[in-house]
Amino acid sequence: MTIWFLTGSQGLYGEDTLRQVAEQSRRIAEALPVPVEWKPVLTDAAAIRRVMLEASADDSCAGVIAWMHTFSPAKMWIAGLDALRKPLLHLHTQANVELPWSSIDMDFMNLNQAAHGDREFGHIQTRLGVPRKTVAGHVSDPRVGERVEAWARAATGLAELRTLKLARFGDNMRDVAVTEGDKVEAQLRFGVSVNTYGVNELVEAVDAASDADVNALVKEYEELYRVTPELLGERRESLRYAARIELGLRHFLEGGGFRAFTTNFEDLGGLRQLPGLAVQRLMADGYGFGGEGDWKTSVLLRTLKAMSAGGAPEGGTSFMEDYTYDLTPGQEVILGAHMLEVCPSIAADTPSCEIHPLGIGGREDPVRLVFDAAPGPGVVVGLADMGDRFRLVANEIDIVPPAEPLPALPVARAVWKPRPDFRTSTESWLTAGAPHHTVLSTAVGAEELSDLADMLGVELLVIDAGTTSRQFAKELRWNQAYYRLAQGF
Ligand code: MN
Repeated sequence: MTIWFLTGSQGLYGEDTLRQVAEQSRRIAEALPVPVEWKPVLTDAAAIRRVMLEASADDSCAGVIAWMHTFSPAKMWIAGLDALRKPLLHLHTQANVELPWSSIDMDFMNLNQAAHGDREFGHIQTRLGVPRKTVAGHVSDPRVGERVEAWARAATGLAELRTLKLARFGDNMRDVAVTEGDKVEAQLRFGVSVNTYGVNELVEAVDAASDADVNALVKEYEELYRVTPELLGERRESLRYAARIELGLRHFLEGGGFRAFTTNFEDLGGLRQLPGLAVQRLMADGYGFGGEGDWKTSVLLRTLKAMSAGGAPEGGTSFMEDYTYDLTPGQEVILGAHMLEVCPSIAADTPSCEIHPLGIGGREDPVRLVFDAAPGPGVVVGLADMGDRFRLVANEIDIVPPAEPLPALPVARAVWKPRPDFRTSTESWLTAGAPHHTVLSTAVGAEELSDLADMLGVELLVIDAGTTSRQFAKELRWNQAYYRLAQGF
């Protein structure tokens, strides 16, 4: 994916000035931390409309950055902005850091006018109701670069959503509310196409896996993980079957162009184990996943995986579920896990590959990777369908090591302190009606999520160090009104 860099100006300045505008604008574009495709300086309405139509039609263009180096009368931008169907970032910067106080003259003033050129541009964007992110400051300021990068990552996530296909094996877990949702609305709002397949179509792919492929994959497991002796000995057949599930799942997903999926332990058809290891490894390869038919969390996971791929900060992203608490006063922590399916991208150490009984689902014991999540700052985010719209809720967290080893807990897990504190976080989360299934990420933060929510026109509530219960309750009430009005009639 590429980002286009547009520079606004006008014909009045003459060729000399416009040459300087182009040269300086190229330097600004090159100084950005994300690679951009620089476009020739725009000086009239027809060229602006043309480039916006081209950006909108080009599948490889993830978004557009615009900067008014000089004055660019904004009525020239109306048709173009109206035609733009890609994320927009308004970069409010200028070529120089310091003013040349002793030599500044009217030629300099003529050339360096972003201070009012960008105000003209801001006005027309707001007048037209154009969603965008505005970033102010010189491009040499790291904070400017970080904010542009966050936006570019969100734009990459949006581009992924627009073409995402999700396969569900079976429906939702019976009687569960929060994993339900409007799939037609999701396709309109996000772009993702969500469809269900009979689990026995997957079983056919699993059974079709060749013994040679199974052998090779089991060998890979032995190299990558600490595989327990019983899985290499008397229970080797269970490990081989787990490998068979992975091969079948990959074959099915690759064949259909799916980059996200769901399973449901209530609907396993001819599968002998609930897919654990296979799901964990597919998540590590970037696939979206949701347990119990939870396609919304699977969509969110795939989106965050796409946002954190390539040039992103280190860290991992996983399917997660709030499980249980340590409520020691002042030291409250949340223990998150799932029956099996936590992504090893968040692991602190080499995962251990184990087999244990599963008290649910009524199948053979499933193979899974067991590990603790690496400590550090992160975010958990959930997507709920509120009936008339989607709502994202994110909580900034600090993952901490477990207080003690957990030798009897046979699943991967993460332990975290929610910000600002346990009470405010959980009360806010519950008041927002946010889900128990989430995506936990140490690679994507609140700024990227906020940019993505703006691009999608979806509500995002952030619970962070500055949150108070009273303010959060008010925000919920205001949002209730705003998002209903914003939808129109
Ligand atoms: Mn669950």
